[in-house]
Amino acid sequence: MSHPAPLPAGRTGDPPLEATLLAALRAAVGPSNVLTEPDARRGHETDWTGVYRGIARAVVRPRVTAEVAAVLRACSAAGAPVVPQGGNTGLVGGSVPDPSGRAVVLSTGRLRTLDPVDRASGQVTVGAGVSLATLQDHARAAGFEVPVDLGARDSATVGGMAATNAGGIHVLRHGTMRRQVVGVEAVLASGDVWSHLAGLEKDNTGYDLAGLLCGSEGTLAVITRLRLRLVPALPRRVAALLAWPGVGAMVDGLASLRAEVPGLEAAEYFVRAGVDLVRSVFGEPDPFGRPHPAYLLVEAAGTTDPTAELAAAVEGLDEVLDAAVADGPTPRARLWRLRELHTEALAAVGPPRKYDVSVPLPGLPAFVDAAVDLVRSLSGARPLVCHHFGHLGDGNVHLNVLGLADAPGEDVALVDGAVLGLVADHGGSISAEHGIGRLKRPWLHLSRTPAELAGFAALKGALDPAGILNPGVLLPG
Ligand SMILES: Cc1cc2nc3c(=O)[nH]c(=O)nc-3n(C[C@H](O)[C@H](O)[C@H](O)COP(=O)(O)OP(=O)(O)OC[C@H]3O[C@@H](n4cnc5c(N)ncnc54)[C@H](O)[C@@H]3O)c2cc1C
Repeated sequence: MSHPAPLPAGRTGDPPLEATLLAALRAAVGPSNVLTEPDARRGHETDWTGVYRGIARAVVRPRVTAEVAAVLRACSAAGAPVVPQGGNTGLVGGSVPDPSGRAVVLSTGRLRTLDPVDRASGQVTVGAGVSLATLQDHARAAGFEVPVDLGARDSATVGGMAATNAGGIHVLRHGTMRRQVVGVEAVLASGDVWSHLAGLEKDNTGYDLAGLLCGSEGTLAVITRLRLRLVPALPRRVAALLAWPGVGAMVDGLASLRAEVPGLEAAEYFVRAGVDLVRSVFGEPDPFGRPHPAYLLVEAAGTTDPTAELAAAVEGLDEVLDAAVADGPTPRARLWRLRELHTEALAAVGPPRKYDVSVPLPGLPAFVDAAVDLVRSLSGARPLVCHHFGHLGDGNVHLNVLGLADAPGEDVALVDGAVLGLVADHGGSISAEHGIGRLKRPWLHLSRTPAELAGFAALKGALDPAGILNPGVLLPG
């Protein structure tokens, strides 16, 4: 794979080439949609965590697929790297440019078409830049739900969700984003357009290109539209917060809940240290007025009220120490706040080093204990603290290490290697749902074999031979 040579000095490179590129970008999307001023670029140059900061040559904002194709043709001709960016809520540094000042950020924020819901198939075709919250409102108005839901719903886009194969809180019932994508329209680095949006449930005509782009993190193509599966809205829902003596007891209890509550949609866990943190940052009340070691937030939904079914199942759980049931939207939202504010509370006292990983469910309690001990043992002059919470039903743990914010790069790499190595030792995946990005790129070999990595390189070389799409993300740049 060949790559464009680094710019000799400064940010702009060869003036005639730069002028040609900018002129081509302005011709592609209109001058007002090529942002070159630092103030206009700034929000696109730093990721949600604040850890990854870069410099963009320009931020371009195409409105339709043909404009995306023109942008990619212009960048290919100039050898300019392109960073596709949706809502910029990604947590692994994949959505922002590097500090070289060479990359063009392609913001999908104006790709906002929203076709009517196809009620017969339960599908919808949607522009990549539509936010999850907007799609949720659109689907609900037609009596459907979007099967994937996550805390960043107001900003995260469907294109970014497909590109990261987002998971979220309903994977237990509906699977990740990949399972919802039945068709895709995308533009390759060459400017060629793939368009396969019929949404046929049975379509055995060769390679699954939509599936290939799910989890590709902007390295193979820019997704412009998606055909997505919806699920019928289930109007009756109930949530319950259950307190436990430890994570092990919760894992056992969840097995019973899954067997007895078919409408179970979510099973999110957190522990006391996380509750204390959320309370200290946001002033939330203590859910039970007294502390407990571990908490499981479950939600069930159906066409008929699932409260009695859930209550009966909870009744049969010997190790539950306290329980709060919430069946109206406001009390349910109050319980969910406690879980969803974990990410923001950690950001407020951080930034934390984030490791979103998964391990086989039976081994999860031993894994989180080992991770907390390991991180503590790596403390230097300043203590390192490992917080953990996550999507219990999926064996998905969000490890967040505090204390590394100003640490030298080699100390951070040491902790990265130790924590992700521990995941591999426990038979897990180093990325459960956020992707690899820049954060985990050096460690991909822990979850993928040399033969698989050679396959990745072959695909990348075939679809993006000059390596202009998101270099340095997922694969070596
Ligand atoms: C508070 C909070 C809670 C979160 N909870 C979850 C959770 O529960 N589950 C989960 O999976 N994630 C979660 N995330 C992470 C994040 O929201 C997801 O990764 C989301 O899918 C990113 O969407 P985005 O539009 O913001 O993408 P961006 O952050 O803009 O981009 C993410 C990656 O996708 C690529 N990309 C974006 N759009 C396109 C496109 N159209 N074509 C090709 N490539 C593209 C980018 O280049 C980048 O590599 C959370 C984040 C926050 C801040």
